Amino acid sequence: MSATDGIALVDQHCHGVLTRDVDSEEFGTGLAEAQSAGNRDRFQSLLGLAVRRWCAPVLDLPPHSPPEDYLARRSALGWREVTERLLAAAGVEHWLLDTGYAVDTSPAELAELGGGTGHEVLRVEQVAERLAARADSPAALLDRFRAELHERAQDAVALKSVLAYRSGLDLPGDQPTDDQARHAAGDWLRAGGEQLTDPVLHAWVVHEAARVSAEQRLPLQFHTGFGDADLHLHQVDPLRLTHFLRSTQDTGATVVLLHCWPYHRHAAYLAHVYDHVYVDTGLMIPFVGTRAGGVLAETLEVAPFESLLYSSDGNVLPELHHLAAALWRHHLGRLLDTWLADDVLDTNTAERLAHAAGAGNATRLHPRLASRTKH
Ligand SMILES: [Zn+2]
Repeated sequence: MSATDGIALVDQHCHGVLTRDVDSEEFGTGLAEAQSAGNRDRFQSLLGLAVRRWCAPVLDLPPHSPPEDYLARRSALGWREVTERLLAAAGVEHWLLDTGYAVDTSPAELAELGGGTGHEVLRVEQVAERLAARADSPAALLDRFRAELHERAQDAVALKSVLAYRSGLDLPGDQPTDDQARHAAGDWLRAGGEQLTDPVLHAWVVHEAARVSAEQRLPLQFHTGFGDADLHLHQVDPLRLTHFLRSTQDTGATVVLLHCWPYHRHAAYLAHVYDHVYVDTGLMIPFVGTRAGGVLAETLEVAPFESLLYSSDGNVLPELHHLAAALWRHHLGRLLDTWLADDVLDTNTAERLAHAAGAGNATRLHPRLASRTKH
């Protein structure tokens, strides 16, 4: 019996899954944070080994079944059966789904497939981008954005920024003035108003989101570290958010650092020095496979236990939602067993730490989860 057994997890940042069958090439792409699987066999990685070890038994295959057998079994069962099995076996009670990255399922549909309850994480850039298409003037755009963000946030359980994917995480401590933002918005609208990439306007938008975070007690999630090939990894070290974190620490806003690898130690440091910062090693856990214990141990070096959150960042393939949970349970459980054997802590403290990291901290951080649970 491990301290992580039986915890009903809060997957506090994930995406939808494809609601159709996929071929082997598409499956390979789903196992890579790249635009395509390329020429590489994506099963030849720690993530690929983890699929064979942890997902194969859920589909009634022996652990470590060859990739061809796994893919054949997947097609024989069909996407719905595979998805239902993998998601249910993750043992998740709340799915917090970033709806800004359009894969087939809505929060309610994901919960329908995997059990538990689905909730929306609102991507703030998308609010601005949708308004830009029909804005009459830069001033009107800013006003509409403020109003719409405030309103749409009422239906969400968290906000999310993809600043990392645009200009990187160098965010000023002070919000650009409305004048500066109007000027930047004018340029943006003249250029067609598609993807929000202007650093001044983007900073203004993120500071508005921080204000809504404070007013509505909604965490503001930032993608940091490891991600798709369209980011520049050196620009997404969460330490670059330091000015912003310093200026928001006493406002009531809360900030969640997602993904983090290879900067998970930096994220842990930020959670150590700023009480309103939370650290989440989702996404990395499936990708590093059997090294998940190492990443968790490094994060725990200085991160306060109350700042730890669980997520999968699963998207497209339900294997990712599943593996995050299976590997988190296994490796955090083993780490705590080692510490128990070494007399670092007692059983009661180990169980409390595991529960806090898997569900308790997230429930405290997202007060709306409790009121939006279907029973
Ligand atoms: Zn994500």
